[in-house]
Amino acid sequence: MDSVSASRIVLFPFMSKGHIIPFLQLARLLLHRGITVTIFTTPANSPFIRHSLADTDASVVDLPFPQNVPGLPAGVESTDRLPSMSLFLPLVNATKLIQPDFEHALQNLSGVSCLVSDGFLGWTQKSAEKLGIPRLVLFGMSNYSATVSRVVVLDRPHVDLDSDDEPFEVPSFEWIKLTRNDFESPFKDPEPKGPLFEFIIEQGIATSKSQGLVVNSFYELEPLFLDYWNREFDPKAWCVGPLCMAEPPRVEPLMKPIWVQWLDTKLAEGGTVIYVAFGSQAEISSEQLQEIAIGLEKSEVNFLWVVRSKGLEALEGFEERVKGRGVVVKEWVDQREILDHESVIGFMSHCGWNSVLESICACVPILAWPMMAEQHLNARMVAEELGVGLRILAESGSVRGFVKWENIEKMVRELMEGGKGKEVRKKVKEIGEAARRAMEEGGSS
Ligand code: UDP
Ligand code: UDP
Repeated sequence: MDSVSASRIVLFPFMSKGHIIPFLQLARLLLHRGITVTIFTTPANSPFIRHSLADTDASVVDLPFPQNVPGLPAGVESTDRLPSMSLFLPLVNATKLIQPDFEHALQNLSGVSCLVSDGFLGWTQKSAEKLGIPRLVLFGMSNYSATVSRVVVLDRPHVDLDSDDEPFEVPSFEWIKLTRNDFESPFKDPEPKGPLFEFIIEQGIATSKSQGLVVNSFYELEPLFLDYWNREFDPKAWCVGPLCMAEPPRVEPLMKPIWVQWLDTKLAEGGTVIYVAFGSQAEISSEQLQEIAIGLEKSEVNFLWVVRSKGLEALEGFEERVKGRGVVVKEWVDQREILDHESVIGFMSHCGWNSVLESICACVPILAWPMMAEQHLNARMVAEELGVGLRILAESGSVRGFVKWENIEKMVRELMEGGKGKEVRKKVKEIGEAARRAMEEGGSS
């Protein structure tokens, strides 16, 4: 292991919580193997990274974020700080201006054996080639979503359909029925084009030139999709996850956050809780937020709801009425601490890939309610492919659209108390166990 212990791996995550977190977990795995780890980021994202890795020897390098970028409010260096996801492109394009500083800093580091950078930072491929450093890409998507979307984009089975809700079969995976609504524009468009599409193609080309993909997943979870990817597509993919299992055992803090104290109380009473959260950047309309509130209130189950979007204020007396059995949290929480809490037996989730894996590792079944990005595919995977969760659909049966409180109430009850809930709870325990085995010494990851 001498040659390994002498080496340094440079990590460069994209600027959003959902992208940074798996990189921090990967950093821990590498440090555990005696590898020197240096993480590149920008000043506004640096405090979160430094704080998360404060107990480790990882070093963090801050590169200045471009100033006065048209469209971007000053100080915003992360997608979860964007006033709207419509500013995604200005943000990712701004990162390209970091290239000279990145290369300069990289050149000044000794013993760099490899760069692991985000799939959205395709420009780092050029830097890696210029400096003769191999690059691996950490994309943070499941093999299922990556493979299925690649197959659909190439074979285009979704072009000649009457509506965005009409099901079509995925070539090579005939048991998978999708609709155009399972994809975002430009993927769902018959003739994909425009700046976002160009950006995606550009990143795809850069990724294909890299040495390979390290995937936050494990082989036993999705063998067909990983094998298919490695047979048909480039670059080669390796599963190294679930990365959330790399986190050190939690030390009980002197003062637990009040919502965790509340979970303790519920557990002592013999109660169970559904955890409700939609990730670090989902945009939910105030009408839909209020409908969720009513659904949770009527369901009569205990709930812990993390909600950072605005709109709940308009629902008069809600928090008062659910006092004792419902808690609304507006702060950043330690999601894994909540999912691992014994009282939590269900997770209403937007199905961001990190959340899906964290839920599986905690053996908590999911009530899938995807919002954007590849979350709809993750939700299909959760409910239809793996059977570790149930699905919330709009009244029309569409995977998008407004969901009425009656349906929310019904599905919450089904997950927490119903027969289908029982089935998916059993299944998630099996898969959670498989995840643990994959991450053990000698396991597939
Ligand atoms: N997260 C957290 N506390 C919060 C909100 C999110 O710890 O209050 C973490 C969550 O555990 C996950 C990540 O942030 O690791 C969110 O990633 P995910 O892929 O689930 O969704 P995204 O935020 O990227 O949509
Ligand atoms: N921050 C910022 N712009 C960004 C991202 C972060 O100004 O694009 C600031 C943020 O206001 C905070 C610090 O950087 O002072 C750390 O932010 P983070 O989101 O990591 O933690 P939080 O504010 O949620 O505790």
